[in-house]
Amino acid sequence: MKKLLNSTLLMTLTLSSISIQAVAKQGQGMGGPGQESFCELTSEQVLIRTLSEKELDTLNFMREEEKLARDVYKTLYGQWNTQVFTNIAASEQKHMDKVKVFLDAYQLPDPASSEVGQFNNTVLQNLYDDLLAKGSQSKLEAFKVGAMVEEVDIFDLENAIAETDNDELKVMYTQLMQASHNHLRAFSRQIINIEGEYIAQYMSSEAVASILDRPKPDMMHGNAILLNPAGHVSEDKTCFVASINSEQDLLQNGSTIKGEDTITVTHQITANANDLNKVVDWVIVASYQAENSDQTQFFTHNADNWQAWDGQANNLPATKSAQQLLEGYTLQIFQGQLQGMPGVFSIFSGYRLDDGSIVYNRFPTVFKVSE
Ligand code: MN
Ligand code: MN
Repeated sequence: MKKLLNSTLLMTLTLSSISIQAVAKQGQGMGGPGQESFCELTSEQVLIRTLSEKELDTLNFMREEEKLARDVYKTLYGQWNTQVFTNIAASEQKHMDKVKVFLDAYQLPDPASSEVGQFNNTVLQNLYDDLLAKGSQSKLEAFKVGAMVEEVDIFDLENAIAETDNDELKVMYTQLMQASHNHLRAFSRQIINIEGEYIAQYMSSEAVASILDRPKPDMMHGNAILLNPAGHVSEDKTCFVASINSEQDLLQNGSTIKGEDTITVTHQITANANDLNKVVDWVIVASYQAENSDQTQFFTHNADNWQAWDGQANNLPATKSAQQLLEGYTLQIFQGQLQGMPGVFSIFSGYRLDDGSIVYNRFPTVFKVSE
């Protein structure tokens, strides 16, 4: 314990003040695919974990399946000049980008060709060719092709979600699936306008009916958790952008650093619009699992120092108290060296509202210190 306390002193926090930054309101306008652009993950923020062969195969497949949707709609728009195809093609480009963030984070080659209508996966190439032939027959057939693509996409995304235990992948696939629900509703409306009904083409008619009955979900996703005083958690629209820097280099989340490296960890936070102007306390928690130990220790930062924390939310000191919550903050969490502290650090930060609720980053900022 003595050694631990001494070593915690090495976590010399030089600054934990909060500076207000002019963080632009990103994509908060109503309507359009812009809603899907808020709080986009960058590849450096993805926490690197071991992925199974299956998870890697699915990632590659979904990159090309989103391209299939984009390319089908682009081409059908060229033939039929109907707005729904160009709107949804733009959304599919965003989905391709979301998958690419993970390919980049895991340093995997991109399976997607830059040529419209060209696929490395032969199943998708054949599907594309068949769908295009069908969609060229009439505008009605083109809408049915759109709905078919969405049914296939939803089915594959449901499997992708079920087959991974990686939360970041689950969240990304769920966002793609919710957009596919919207797209299926949009195409089915076009079909219903022409022939009065929509008949499921790939999924069960019950599954499709249940999707068509659902109201449009809110597509403004943050990446935060709201923990209420009763201990219940829910998703929150606050957006955290974490960065770990060593000298001038932005490191991948989950990177290994050396004890003598000077690192800077910051969270840039765009608060949930509902919380703006409220008076909050800022809080920071670091968990530490020492190398060759299976115990996790928790630390928190009060206004001046790091200290051990018992894990009780009502014992969490403020690193900065009674701050009016403005639109964008940069919370500087740590700057210094961690010599003599080999192990894994996971960082959470957030703000506490006056009812005791805490809004914090859903996915931790992680780095490993080697001997
Ligand atoms: Mn999509
Ligand atoms: Mn879609």
